[in-house]
Amino acid sequence: KSELIVPDFPVEVERLAKSFNQLLGRLNQKIEQEQQFVSDASHELRTPVAAIRGHVTLLKRRWREHPEIVEDSLNYIDEESLRMKRMIEELLTISRGNHFSMENERFDLSEFTDRTVKEIQPALTQKVIFENDLSFSVNADRAAIQKILVAFLENAGKYSPADSKIIVRLREQGDSIDLSVADEGIGIADEEKEKIFERFYRVDKSRSSEIPGTGLGLAIAKQYAEACGAWIFVSDNLPQGSVFHLVFGPK
Ligand code: ADP
Repeated sequence: KSELIVPDFPVEVERLAKSFNQLLGRLNQKIEQEQQFVSDASHELRTPVAAIRGHVTLLKRRWREHPEIVEDSLNYIDEESLRMKRMIEELLTISRGNHFSMENERFDLSEFTDRTVKEIQPALTQKVIFENDLSFSVNADRAAIQKILVAFLENAGKYSPADSKIIVRLREQGDSIDLSVADEGIGIADEEKEKIFERFYRVDKSRSSEIPGTGLGLAIAKQYAEACGAWIFVSDNLPQGSVFHLVFGPK
């Protein structure tokens, strides 16, 4: 009988060693990602702190002889500290990971979208149009869905011309429900389409331009969508712009 066991033994050990290695690999990858996150976060926070400190130094040295710089510097400090506040709030959301408490309930997505669009319209210079033919209900956390929709709408506002149109659509796609936000803005190149959902990632065009942002909004939206059992992605809006989708399904 022992002859039967002994030949199997190395096979079993090899299998165990293999899965152990895989586990270790995944763990290492996770640790590396976390280290990267902490180093990105510190780097991103250092920029507004440096800007604020620069202006404080300038004010301390010069405000007596040059009172005209005061307003400008204070505005700058105001803006940068707001940016930091927002980033810290977003970092806290992210670090809660998937541990935030979700309260899934069934609600009418059409009515909800209509209300959210009306709430955010005054903050946007573009005209937001909501198109939906049917009424759809979903099972999800309202607050999470609202954050995702607001992130899509705010981005559409930031990355498209002031007088263009933003179209919000609620449609049935096969056995899924697709809530999409289409803008006529700068668009997103194919090779960036997945990266923009990573934490801190900003396309160069938006980073180098004056458009404020942290690169965390879509990473948070993705996290919220997954916690609700939904998913998000981006496609092109033809001839110009992007379409962000939040998909629930199958129904
Ligand atoms: P940010 O705070 O930079 O807007 P997000 O995570 O919301 O961060 O978005 C990440 C990046 O994706 C943005 O910096 C921008 O480069 C790109 N992006 C997001 N939404 C749009 C859009 N509607 N049109 C074009 N680019 C977009």
